[in-house]
Amino acid sequence: MLTLEALARWVDSLADVFAENRDFLTGLDSAIGDADHGINMARGFGAVREALQKTPPADVPGLFRTVSTTLIRTVGGASGPLYGTFFMKAGPLLSASPVDIPALCAAFGAGVEGIGKMGKSTTGEKTMLDAWVPALEALRAASGGEVAAALSSAAAAARAGMEKTIPMVATKGRASYLGERSAGHPDPGATSTLLLLEALRDAVCEGE
Ligand code: ADP
Ligand code: MG
Repeated sequence: MLTLEALARWVDSLADVFAENRDFLTGLDSAIGDADHGINMARGFGAVREALQKTPPADVPGLFRTVSTTLIRTVGGASGPLYGTFFMKAGPLLSASPVDIPALCAAFGAGVEGIGKMGKSTTGEKTMLDAWVPALEALRAASGGEVAAALSSAAAAARAGMEKTIPMVATKGRASYLGERSAGHPDPGATSTLLLLEALRDAVCEGE
């Protein structure tokens, strides 16, 4: 179930997920960016863990608010404000407890829309949206079923979306400076979104 406890376990696990994948993500960003995406994500979610330990959230909107403000404050780079906006827009739509999949769809929909507005970006531009948008579509398609199945289907769609970024030519963010040379590499942000959604699936299934 998508309780405060499960969602807090998810967010906390992201400190480990991004510490473990710091060099991997930074390696992806060294191919088409400035080699800091893993460092940014590990720093940001490490700070999120500390902030939540210091002040445990009372509810899911409070959890998401802390994630948002901490990412915006601690992550250098484009991804901090973009992920920060995602959690800022999604949080207020998660006040009913436990959260169900239709509510998660509405919240993630608002979060993804927030990323697109802030980044002036859409799918097909080799960004994190290429993982987020298909994941959201999969979540919507599965919203009548079990929570664990819906989250697994979202994570699988995010993986397929990330893989589709490999041949893409970037038109947003630093990778766009490379033009055609950005093709042939996965997008770092689409990869971190995939990791984030796999961790959500794992944190929720763990509690079942
Ligand atoms: P920076 O590019 O400033 O070094 P990061 O390396 O942390 O920041 O993050 C890079 C990732 O951010 C990219 O791989 C891409 O997924 C995402 N990104 C960059 N610009 C945009 C944008 N305008 N819209 C959506 N995502 C973006
Ligand atoms: Mg970078």
